[in-house]
Parts: sequence; structure tokens; C-alpha cells
Amino acid sequence: MDEKVKELLERIRGTAGDTARAAGKKAGQMVDVAKLNVQLFDLNGEYSDILRQLGQVMVDTHRGCPPSGERVTDLLGRADETGERIAELKARIADLRQAQTCPACGAPCGREDKFCRACGREL
Ligand SMILES: [Zn+2]
Repeated sequence: MDEKVKELLERIRGTAGDTARAAGKKAGQMVDVAKLNVQLFDLNGEYSDILRQLGQVMVDTHRGCPPSGERVTDLLGRADETGERIAELKARIADLRQAQTCPACGAPCGREDKFCRACGREL
């Protein structure tokens, strides 16, 4: 089929924008995932720091200089809290990355995707 005729038919059917919208959606989700990955990186750093401080507490205690119970409780509380936030972020990233499969091409798509990320088919 002639490309101009094809384009015209697509316009008439109102489907011409679908692929562009799918691409825009995909870009948006990639940005979301990238942002969440940055947050995850920061949280992992925070978590490592808390573990390092807890390790220092162990060494200090071993060397006969135990810290206050308050400090240990505080660090353990922060470890729990940060661990929960990390798990939550990982779940959100997994959701954005793959929550459904395209029935046409089998590509992994996000739960909220209206169109396939690979072939542009409506989901
Ligand atoms: Zn597809």
C-alpha cells in the first residue's frame, strides 16, 4: 500500500498518534525507573552506613567501650526503616518494569501501560 494512503487511513482511524503516545509513555516510565534507581542507590548507601555504624558498636563493645542502649536502638530502628523503604522501592521498580506481557509480541510491559513498549499494540 502506498505510504501516503496508509498514513491517511491511519489518520482517519485516529490511530496515528498511538505509537507516539506509547513512545511517550515508555519514555516517562523509563524516567520514573531511573529516578527510583537513583533513590534506591542513595538508600542502599544509607543502609550500608547504618550497618557500618552498627559494626562499630560491636567493635567498641568488644573493646570494652559499650555505647548507650539508646544509640543501638536508634540504629536498629533506622536499619529497619531503611530496609523497608528499599524493599518498597524495589517492588515499585519491578512493577514499572514488568507487570504484564504483550499478547502480540510477548514483550514485558508495565502494569499501567496502555500500549506495548516494543510493538505499540494496545494492551
Ligand atoms: Zn508488543
